[in-house]
Amino acid sequence: MATTSKKAAPGAAAKTPRRAATKAAPKAATKPVPKAAANAAPDDETGQEGAASEASATEAIYLSLLYAIMEHRLLAGTKLVEERLCEVTGASRARIRQVFARLAHEKLVTLVPNRGAFVSSPSVDEAREVFQARRVVEPALAAELAQRATPAKVRSLRRHAMEEDNARARGDRAAMIRLSGEFHILLAEMAGNAILEKLIREMVSLTCLIITLYDRPGAPACAEHEHRQLIDAIEQRDAARASALMAEHLEHIEGSLDLSMPDSGAPDFYSIFSKG
Ligand SMILES: [Zn+2]
Repeated sequence: MATTSKKAAPGAAAKTPRRAATKAAPKAATKPVPKAAANAAPDDETGQEGAASEASATEAIYLSLLYAIMEHRLLAGTKLVEERLCEVTGASRARIRQVFARLAHEKLVTLVPNRGAFVSSPSVDEAREVFQARRVVEPALAAELAQRATPAKVRSLRRHAMEEDNARARGDRAAMIRLSGEFHILLAEMAGNAILEKLIREMVSLTCLIITLYDRPGAPACAEHEHRQLIDAIEQRDAARASALMAEHLEHIEGSLDLSMPDSGAPDFYSIFSKG
């Protein structure tokens, strides 16, 4: 799957200052969409080619929103204004709704009846559940990959770690967030289990949103050396060590978040938007 790593989301490990989106009324998204969607086919295409380009146009809009959420350009609680997205992308309402439905299925967007679509605000309990699930799945995947490691896979992982370093060196926070999440997705892809890969993709995206909500101010950024240690263990085909390192890495990410706050901090969409 050559395109899969493009979809990847960021963030498992990146850090940003705590955002205030849950405290203030979220503002409507005004320019969420993206370069990818700019090339999207118009909605009136027909025929087989039309169907194919329609699908890829839908995918482009989906990816643009996914990236914006992952890179913290769209914050938790932000309203996604359907009309505005239609304008910016040239897509029909039906297509935009299709994208919202997909993002809602992945729990990144919350659809509120008669109010619209909002970037989700995972609760503290949901955040804990995501990390609990990641701790169950990812150490096992890392061990699995260590057993199947090939020089080509290790090279590809090292190339990815290098990209993370480059983003860090040039201070490109958005890319750092995305790449750190993509590292986990790349491991899952390489382990060769499509179902777990899909699961991890979704959990990494959710982790990104969780980080925007619960990041502890001043917490250190995700240690890039932990990705390198993992790659070393995989290269050495040391499954037990790869598994232990991944478990520790996930504990560090969760430990850098402040999950002690009560859930009442989550925005109440009904009251915020009750006036329209
Ligand atoms: Zn990581």
